Amino acid sequence: MSAPAKNKKEWFDKPDPSGKTDTGEIGLRFTCTQCGNCCTGPTGFVLFTDNEAKAMAKDLGITKADFNAQYARDTIVGRSLKEVVVEGFGYDCVFLTRDADGKTGCRVYGSRPEQCRTWPFWKSNLVSKRAWKEESHGCPGMNAGELHTPEHIRLTRDRVEI
Ligand code: SF4
Repeated sequence: MSAPAKNKKEWFDKPDPSGKTDTGEIGLRFTCTQCGNCCTGPTGFVLFTDNEAKAMAKDLGITKADFNAQYARDTIVGRSLKEVVVEGFGYDCVFLTRDADGKTGCRVYGSRPEQCRTWPFWKSNLVSKRAWKEESHGCPGMNAGELHTPEHIRLTRDRVEI
């Protein structure tokens, strides 16, 4: 996917891109509600770099070799975190936790990969207003909560190729 030309206005540079308000605000709203939808459901990939593997292994108090053996799998698009099938939900990320109230958490939150940190400001979600809207159906944190500026959105988008 090619990056938009520098200085070219994008759809989220215009007021009210969510179509939900008439405040004239510019940017996109997002605050995670910890529903966990993005960490479960259909099978998928959580890709990570070697440095991210080291950081997660350190967080867990194990070696990188043990981390790779226990928590990683090879996929057609690269090394991914493993998944666990959980009845009623689907393919959970191996590090997803749920408390008694259904709130989800992450066992490696402090060292989670860039793919997780940059959600939902991914290239694939920002390619069009329609793509953003479609993705927002599964993520209640999108189009709600904190307003993020177009500059912040672009910088976040540039951090991962997804
Ligand atoms: S789907 Fe959205 S609101 Fe739910 S946990 Fe993921 S980022 Fe947070």
